[in-house]
Amino acid sequence: MSIPSPADPLTLGQHLVSVLDSGARVATYKLAVLVALLEFSVENVPEDHGSAVDVDLDDLAERVISLYWRQVRDFDGHYLRQSTQARATIPDTVREFARATATAGRETPLDTAARRNPGLFREMIKKVKLVLVQQPLHRLQRVPGGYAGKSFLYDDSWMSAKMGMTTVLARGNRITLYPGVCFALARLSSLLKPALMLAWVDDVRRKNTFLDGDVPDLEGHLFGNSRIALIRPRAALIEAFGPTCFYCSTCVGPDAHVDRVLPWSRVGIDGLANLVLACPSCNTSKSQLLPARSHVLRALDRGRDPITESAASIDWPVQFDRVVTSARGLYASQPEGSPIWLGRNKITAMQVDFSWLNGYRVDLPNIAAPE
Ligand SMILES: [Zn+2]
Repeated sequence: MSIPSPADPLTLGQHLVSVLDSGARVATYKLAVLVALLEFSVENVPEDHGSAVDVDLDDLAERVISLYWRQVRDFDGHYLRQSTQARATIPDTVREFARATATAGRETPLDTAARRNPGLFREMIKKVKLVLVQQPLHRLQRVPGGYAGKSFLYDDSWMSAKMGMTTVLARGNRITLYPGVCFALARLSSLLKPALMLAWVDDVRRKNTFLDGDVPDLEGHLFGNSRIALIRPRAALIEAFGPTCFYCSTCVGPDAHVDRVLPWSRVGIDGLANLVLACPSCNTSKSQLLPARSHVLRALDRGRDPITESAASIDWPVQFDRVVTSARGLYASQPEGSPIWLGRNKITAMQVDFSWLNGYRVDLPNIAAPE
């Protein structure tokens, strides 16, 4: 099989859009796996942009699980269908795990749940991983039209609908993104991710007939991008870092906004390392723009320990390392001249330089590894 030449973002983007366009999907798995691959790519942009990059399948499974984690909560008294089939293994498995690790009366972050029952967490990773290779990873690149049968992201010739774990492990428990694909996906991420999520909301709406056109905030429920989802960290942020806007130092009251420094449309990081208090005007003006690097640096300079301590007090994830790796990938993959948010109504063009992040060493614990 011939390996495609280093990925051209435009061609790759067209291929991926054809995945979106390919009509009624049985389940939302393809969308989930694509969003997970985009987030992975942003966080793993190689030094040499033309390199091939390995994606560990446990890591990919965990990313997919974290996408479904919020979605398996009841919405308006219903468990939302993610498939036209009666059972959907991935959300069903995630829901069982959520139930087994729940705290009464509050949402449990996935990494807290994983610590609570690591054995069951590993079982879930294994189960989800197998479904991923049998279904969406195996079928993702088989889009109708001119691309049928040709892989453009990774070699999938060894996958099949009936394959077992032995084959997955024999293949190194990974897929390898073709040369240049990781960088191209990171570049495309801010364009494609919102489109994938719109398609996802639309799919869920169609698979759940009780949802009519004007259901309140289905998107917020599925993706946790409503401000309501971030109310719990607000008090902790005020307590730890004071009641001021992170960007302009204005005093903020108890109804301050909680802002994701790296915007949610680029990377879905809800960990406290990515959260700050913002006054409504800064929050609105910043919107989904990439902030100036100084803001990210200041957010990290609040310190790993104080952030971790504050997060622990409300049982909230930290994700310090994800902020570091994502920032590196985001700034490295934006075209020069992209708009950068400096402060309220101050936007400038980006200059490429991300050496400033090199001082932040990343030491990622592999939560799915056997003890
Ligand atoms: Zn402000």
